[in-house]
Amino acid sequence: MEPEVKRFVADHVVELPKSGIRDFFELVAKMDDVISLGIGEPDFVTPWHIREAAIYALEKGKTYYTSNLGLIELRRAISSYVEKHMGVTYRPEDEILVTVGVSEALDLALRAIINPGDKVMYHQPCYVSYHPTVQLTHGIGVPIPTVASDRFGLDPEKVKSAWEPGCKVLLLNLPCNPTGGVTEKKKLEEIARFAVEKDLLVISDEIYAELTFEGVHTSMAALPGMRDRTIFLHGCSKAFAMTGFRIGYACAPAELIEAMMKVHQYSMMCAPILSQEAACEALLRGDESVKMMRDKYARRREVIVRRLNAAGLECHRPGGAFYAFPSVKSSGLSDDEFAMWLLKEEKVAVVPGSAFGLGGEGFVRCSFATSYDSLIVACDKIEMFMERLSQKS
Ligand code: PLP
Repeated sequence: MEPEVKRFVADHVVELPKSGIRDFFELVAKMDDVISLGIGEPDFVTPWHIREAAIYALEKGKTYYTSNLGLIELRRAISSYVEKHMGVTYRPEDEILVTVGVSEALDLALRAIINPGDKVMYHQPCYVSYHPTVQLTHGIGVPIPTVASDRFGLDPEKVKSAWEPGCKVLLLNLPCNPTGGVTEKKKLEEIARFAVEKDLLVISDEIYAELTFEGVHTSMAALPGMRDRTIFLHGCSKAFAMTGFRIGYACAPAELIEAMMKVHQYSMMCAPILSQEAACEALLRGDESVKMMRDKYARRREVIVRRLNAAGLECHRPGGAFYAFPSVKSSGLSDDEFAMWLLKEEKVAVVPGSAFGLGGEGFVRCSFATSYDSLIVACDKIEMFMERLSQKS
C-alpha cells in the first residue's frame, strides 16, 4: 500500500501484527505436491445428510434473513445438544445466539464485554486469533503459561499467579489449538472457584469439545457457580467438518446474549439461513458422524505421536483436538527454520509454534486432520529429514 493512502488506516489496525504464518503459507500455496499438516480444518467432507439438509432448504426457496438470534428451530437444537453433551441448559428464546462461526462469537463476546484497558487472561500457546481480537477491542492480554511437561494442560496455580488487578475476563480454549491440551475436572473446578473469587467472566471456547480422546469433556459452564459467569462458545466447524458453513453459537445469561446481539445485529445481522438449516440437521442427527470422525482422528493421533517420538522429536499425546505439538529443539533448528527447511527439502508443511504466542517457540504444530496415508508419508519424510540433520551434525 502507498504511504499516502496508508495514512487513512486506523492506528490500532496499523499496530496489529501481521500473522506470523501468512508468508509461510503463501510459499506453501506456490509449491506443488506439498503434504500439509498445517491446516486446522477437518479433511472430511461434511457428512452427506447435513449437506442434503442445506440442498433441501435451497430447493424449498429458503433464501431470506432469519431472526438476528438465528432460527428458533436451530436454537432449540442447540439447547438440546448443549444440554445432552455439556450438561448445561440454556433457553432457546434469549440465552442462545447463532453466529458466523466461533470466530464471530469470540469477537462479539470481547466487543460486548471489554472496555479499553480491561485485562483478558488467556493460556498460551493459543489460537492465533486471540491476541488480535483482544487488541482490536483495546483490551490487554495477560498470558497464562502452559508447558509440554503438563501436556499443555491448564495449571490452577499458574492461573492464580498470572492474575493481576484489572483482569475482567478469563478466556479458555480446552481442548486447545495448537497444543491439544486438556485439563482434568478437578483442576477446572479449582479454576472455577478462583474465577468466582476474583469475579472473572469466563469466555470458554470449546470448539473442539467432541474431539476429546481420553475420558469425557467437562464444560466450564457446567461447573458449580459458572453458568452465570460464562459465555460458552461452540460451533459446527470442527466436530461436524463444516468449516465452510460458518456456523457458531454463544450460550450465556440473557443480559450477556443481549449485549452481544446488539453488536451482531448491526454488523452481521444473521448467519446464512442455508447453513443454519444444515447446522440443525448436524446437531439433531449428527452424533454418529462425529463418532466416526473422532475414531479416525484417535487412530491418527496414535501413529503421529509414535512416529514423531521415534524420529527424535519429543511429542506429548494431545488429549484432544487434532494437533500434535512436538518440540523441535533436538533438531538444533528454531521452529521457523525447522518448518522452512522441512518444507523446502521434504515438501511437508507444519506450522512454527511461535505463531501461537508465548511458549510456542521451539515447537511446531502438525495437524492430523489429514488422511491416514498422507500422514504416514509425512512421518516417513520427517524421519528422513531428522536422519539427514543428525548426519550433518
Ligand atoms: N476457536 C479455535 C480454538 C479455533 O481453532 C478456531 C478455528 O481454527 C476457531 C475458534 C474458529 O472457528 P470457526 O470456524 O467456528 O470460526
